[in-house]
Amino acid sequence: MPRPVEALIHSDALAHNLRRARVSAPDAKVWAVVKANAYGHGIEHAFAGLKGADGFALLDLKEAERVRALGWRGPILLLEGCFEVRDLEACSRLNLWHTVHHEAQIDMLAAHKTHTPHQVFLKMNSGMNRLGFRPAAYQHAWRRLSGLTQVESIVLMTHLSDADGARGIAHQLALFEATTQGLSGERTLANSAATLRFAAQQDTVRADWVRPGIMVYGSSPDYPQRGIADWDLQPTMSLRAQIIATQDLKAGEQVGYGSRFTAERDMRLGVVACGYADGYPRVVPDGTPVLVNDVRTRLVGRVSMDMITVDLTPVPEAGVGSVATLWGMSPGGAVLPIDEIALAAGTIGYELMCALAPRVPTRAV
Ligand SMILES: *Cc1c(COP(=O)(O)O)cnc(C)c1O
Repeated sequence: MPRPVEALIHSDALAHNLRRARVSAPDAKVWAVVKANAYGHGIEHAFAGLKGADGFALLDLKEAERVRALGWRGPILLLEGCFEVRDLEACSRLNLWHTVHHEAQIDMLAAHKTHTPHQVFLKMNSGMNRLGFRPAAYQHAWRRLSGLTQVESIVLMTHLSDADGARGIAHQLALFEATTQGLSGERTLANSAATLRFAAQQDTVRADWVRPGIMVYGSSPDYPQRGIADWDLQPTMSLRAQIIATQDLKAGEQVGYGSRFTAERDMRLGVVACGYADGYPRVVPDGTPVLVNDVRTRLVGRVSMDMITVDLTPVPEAGVGSVATLWGMSPGGAVLPIDEIALAAGTIGYELMCALAPRVPTRAV
């Protein structure tokens, strides 16, 4: 028997969360962002749930090839564009749309021979200061691109740095509006946080395309301010493992490396076949929530490479073979949002899902 740990990818939940993006942006087309192997879910596993999207956005040519291999004929967008000339050939061959965010990419395109002109997304740096043309250079880049026979159409694009936080998006929106005055073309600005939190401003924010990532994967972009239940999102990845041993601890006894946890009273522990080598974060403290069967209990003792230990006090019926859900949905439908574990680990849901270890067998359900 293989080690009893697995990650389930919930196709219905992916489809639900995608519809949720459509509800927030009813007139926009939706890119399902599937970079980083669909945020750790596995592109092949996530595809069934996400094929209702208008397109797939990602960064890696290999991933684009995988989406094409699944039979997807619709739009695919390379969010960082082409890194070298050969990538443009792949764009022509696979009909990939690509972002243009610096001058050298325009030079490459100008020298590229293609029968079918490309759809390009011209990225403006509206304050994130990562990728894109500064406002002062944007119109010039647009004119250069629109003069190329290799270009069929130009979508105006920017990325928001604070859609999930206090600073908000008004300053970037204003700059984008001002800079793109008079330029024709579709527009795209919104990530998950902007799609959900600024739904009321959707004329400007959602524009023609929205680009939701994290919300589609059942994590709230502004947790802990709001959780997935507040946004009507469902968990899409369930990390589950079985209890492989139990221990009866006497009051005053310890468990695990460094004896971090001391039993307050006599108690029963479950040893769960999942550790940091599976992608469960080592840094989480005692008390981090875990579901056993469908009951919420807590982690006790340090996370080790292949195991964690959990308090079975609230689930006396649990024993060897019982299912622990580390995040996601339990077999009976109880929900433990990945955001809760991320918060306990001092990080965000994105990082945990992307860090699911390759050794964990994953399947779509
Ligand atoms: C990753 C990414 C997104 C999606 O962001 P979420 O916060 O996951 O919704 C959107 N646009 C671009 C350019 C990205 O790189």
